[in-house]
Amino acid sequence: MRRHAHAVSGAIAAATMLLAAAPLAATAEPDDPACPTPVAGVLEAADAEGINVLDCGFEDLRIDVDGSVSVVPEPGVTVTMEAAAGPGTDQPVGYSIAVDADGIVAVTEGDLAPTVETSSQEGSGDTPAASYDRCGQGGTWVNGWKWQPTRGFTLNVRDWGLPSGVSLTAWNDIVDKAQWTIDRGITSCSFSNGFVLDIALVLGSDRTEQVGPDMGCGERDGYSSIGFGPIDGGIVGATCTWRSSTRLLEADIRMDNSNRRWSASSASCSQAMDLRTVATHELGHAVGLSHQGEYGHGDLTMSPTMRNCEVIQRQLGYGDLVSLRHHY
Ligand SMILES: [Zn+2]
Repeated sequence: MRRHAHAVSGAIAAATMLLAAAPLAATAEPDDPACPTPVAGVLEAADAEGINVLDCGFEDLRIDVDGSVSVVPEPGVTVTMEAAAGPGTDQPVGYSIAVDADGIVAVTEGDLAPTVETSSQEGSGDTPAASYDRCGQGGTWVNGWKWQPTRGFTLNVRDWGLPSGVSLTAWNDIVDKAQWTIDRGITSCSFSNGFVLDIALVLGSDRTEQVGPDMGCGERDGYSSIGFGPIDGGIVGATCTWRSSTRLLEADIRMDNSNRRWSASSASCSQAMDLRTVATHELGHAVGLSHQGEYGHGDLTMSPTMRNCEVIQRQLGYGDLVSLRHHY
């Protein structure tokens, strides 16, 4: 699947030209868009931007953000998708759909920039920083979303849909290790972590993550979950988080099981994606971490692109830990 980063802005430009050419539309206020007509319940992001779901009477509206169709959250809630790219995929995918308390929709497209960034060794474009120390460098990237007032949450671990070559025992063990790494802030360095997030796991769950093959976020069901299912376009893992202001409400993680080679152990990894690496990365999203830049510190756990057998990212680096500490 090829994604078009500029599809929305292009659509806005096209819509603007149409409005300019249509005399009847001239009376519409720019900040008071009319209620567009969904097609099969779906509005394109460009048409949904700025609408009021309450005034328009939209109850089960879905929005298509560059091919990912999500259920619009209730007023006061923002849903965010963050997806990690595997080999052969040029960029990660991300977007947010926010509905404010009054019902106004705002769509943000593209890999999401944290609200605070103090990166010390970021490269630019395809150029990595000249020198780099995983245990000493990396940005402090904080978006401020977190589990609060208590740090912890319960993650339901689904026990079906596992890809071939990954046993249930191995899957449960890997999620347990990923939980431990994020929960305790375990790094590949010599830092003492000093905090516990108190993430609880429920193994053997039948809960289904509200993440679709198109990286659309479904309807929030009140249960955070992780499980396997197909994801299009070379994406290895995708996480939807829902939040009210900065308070996380739910995190759902899908791991790709569409004809992908996963490795459940570092010893036997060959031309395969390391399952624990991706699970740890997605759990980072589930507690509110956003992506670290790929260039300059591409081996941090929260860098967005994964390479085959890249096991160093199973444990956090300095930039990951600092981001986690800023949140908790
Ligand atoms: Zn990610």
